Amino acid sequence: MIKSVVIIGGGESGIGAALLAKKHGIDVFVSDSGTLSEEYRQTLNFHMITFEEGGHDFNRVLVTEVVVKSPGVPEHAPILGMLKEKGKKVISEIEFGHLFYSGLTIAVTGSNGKTTTSGLLYHILKSAGKNVAIGGNYGKSFARILAESTPKMMVLEVSSFQLDGIETFKPHIAILLNITPDHLDRYDYKMANYVRSKFRITENQDEDDFFIFNGDDPEIVHHIKKGFSIKAKQIPIHESMYDQGITSKDNSGNFELTIFGKHNLLNAKVAVEACRLVGLTESEIRVGLSTFINLPHRLESCGKINGIEFINDSKATNVDSVFYALQAMQKPTIWVAGGTDKGNDYAVLMPFVKEKVKALICLGVDNRKLVDTFKDHIEHIIETQSVDEVISTSLKIGEGGDVVLLSPACASFDLFKNYMDRGDQFKSAVEHYKNLN
Ligand code: ADP
Repeated sequence: MIKSVVIIGGGESGIGAALLAKKHGIDVFVSDSGTLSEEYRQTLNFHMITFEEGGHDFNRVLVTEVVVKSPGVPEHAPILGMLKEKGKKVISEIEFGHLFYSGLTIAVTGSNGKTTTSGLLYHILKSAGKNVAIGGNYGKSFARILAESTPKMMVLEVSSFQLDGIETFKPHIAILLNITPDHLDRYDYKMANYVRSKFRITENQDEDDFFIFNGDDPEIVHHIKKGFSIKAKQIPIHESMYDQGITSKDNSGNFELTIFGKHNLLNAKVAVEACRLVGLTESEIRVGLSTFINLPHRLESCGKINGIEFINDSKATNVDSVFYALQAMQKPTIWVAGGTDKGNDYAVLMPFVKEKVKALICLGVDNRKLVDTFKDHIEHIIETQSVDEVISTSLKIGEGGDVVLLSPACASFDLFKNYMDRGDQFKSAVEHYKNLN
């Protein structure tokens, strides 16, 4: 039994871990080099949990037995180096949560589609009447959920950063959707390090567990072929299993889905397989799939103006997610992209761009790379820093039957607070022009 814990980082997962520690009578101290939000400060005070902000008191931190690091704290942060040097055990918040959980865990990771797939899985299980909670990267942290309740099943969205700090974390069902370059700045710019981190989702699984993965993903397939040892029962998902729709096993035809695009067929197929493993009936799965409403900013339709449809895919912050968004477009497309480029290579988008994109509106401070890549292939390229102008320009150059797709391939920090702010501004501007028409 752990007696004392120091939590490095006072965000959602840090506060969750602190509450869970307190619940189990463990001596706990939260240390953050920045400032805590007023809400979290109040939560800690209310539960009489001691904390510090604006730096780490090494002497106080060092007396602990175990350190729980928040996913936002980089692996190379000096405080972690120092603690490891002193022989302290440093674990992630999902590892800490796992130490206190004996229910059934379904963990979802991948570069893209984690939130959609976790949300869908949770929705199907919940609508079938299961005692299930969702957490991790999605909503509340794993530890906070356990501090507040004891669900029989947990759907966990887990990032590579959370997997970096596991030791015994062992989901009954592990899901790996895809691995494409992302966050490489946190992995010494080495793809191999990032791949290894994603595969940690299955490293503690045994023969009674299941590993569902994208059997067409080159990085995943390559890593398995190289001899990475997997003890869990493997369930590879191939495109041929879902490209004509997802068939139910009770002869009632294909399931009806509320999300579109090939990537969402993969997400849904994976969710269906996981639900079958936990014993849901085909009709329970059918009900869940047909009533799911995805979170905003993921290929979210915002309605039409003058027959032109507007789609908000602001969450598409890397090239791979734009690939799937453009693939899903079935109409001439005015593509809105740009922002903070994370070292993008746009070449993979070229076939879809040539086939479908009639105009590119660059919404960013520095659009040189986008313009240089596509200037010889797209008739109209317009640069702007105003969401309002994105809509007014689209209405000028678009015609009935077109679609305007905000799918930026970039982070949003040059012009917006975050991807949600970018998507919300896009939606409000669409609403504004709807009212004018
Ligand atoms: P994550 O939680 O991994 O960031 P989301 O479900 O929030 O994933 O989706 C992020 C972006 O990726 C959205 O633009 C979405 O349309 C796209 N996307 C969703 N599922 C997939 C998938 N399986 N493969 C590639 N892109 C996807």
